[in-house]
Amino acid sequence: MVAVEPDVTTHGPGDPEIALVGGVHGDEPSGVRAVERLREAAEAGDLELQRGIKLIIANPPAVEANARYLDTDLNRTFPGDPNGNREERLAAKLCAETEGLLTFSIHATHSQDDPIALFDAAQPGVLALAARLPVPYIVDHHGVASGSHSEVNDVLTVEAGCQGTEAAAVTAEKLAIDFLRVTDCLPGTPDTADSRYFSMTEAVPKPPSESYEFLAENFELVREGEVFARADGEAFTADEAFYPILMSAVGYADIFGYKGAKLGDSLGEARAAIENRRIPADD
Ligand SMILES: [Zn+2]
Repeated sequence: MVAVEPDVTTHGPGDPEIALVGGVHGDEPSGVRAVERLREAAEAGDLELQRGIKLIIANPPAVEANARYLDTDLNRTFPGDPNGNREERLAAKLCAETEGLLTFSIHATHSQDDPIALFDAAQPGVLALAARLPVPYIVDHHGVASGSHSEVNDVLTVEAGCQGTEAAAVTAEKLAIDFLRVTDCLPGTPDTADSRYFSMTEAVPKPPSESYEFLAENFELVREGEVFARADGEAFTADEAFYPILMSAVGYADIFGYKGAKLGDSLGEARAAIENRRIPADD
């Protein structure tokens, strides 16, 4: 039996200021491997850490079971409950472990190979860090999924690539090191990349069906009137134009993914768009 505890180690000088988290979802091994490799490097003295960090595997029993979760989706369960089900207890412990720590949470997806950074528009400092990572897509998920870790902490989330692939594991480890660089935990600066900025607007539910198809491309505009998905042959038609985000036939049990809008092609354009929507900063 694996204990229902997050697996936490502390490295580097001084009190930890940064947390790197893998394994929030137990069937996304790329983030777990990134955390394990960083641990090995830190323990071998191969990481020149300049600030204290915590390395965390969030849901070890779900990782052991290769299941997204045991009782409830951990990333819909924050702030958790010390007397609740297994994920509720884990969420409460993770809140305590990451309180006040800038947190980097590594995930993977069924929707695409290219990495995506997700931030909450109420956390402008997190957006600024996301903009320094070499990722082609940077997405505000403010207010879309309740119970996520970003509701209780400053959390930058990445989707490193397709779930279970070697490419996602390599990208996860690289982005973890890049995050440690942009937060001055490690020396050096990451590569740059041209990023496009989007905002999630709503989830797209899918009905119980035998088979699903997703017919559009993530981050490519779906026009009004276009059929973008099918469930047992039932067509889903866009009633207005949108950008698909994290959409796939099989990625989630009850939604295709999310609709989104474009914020811009630069950090400045994204900030101006967020300002126009008047999402106030957390603090
Ligand atoms: Zn995930």
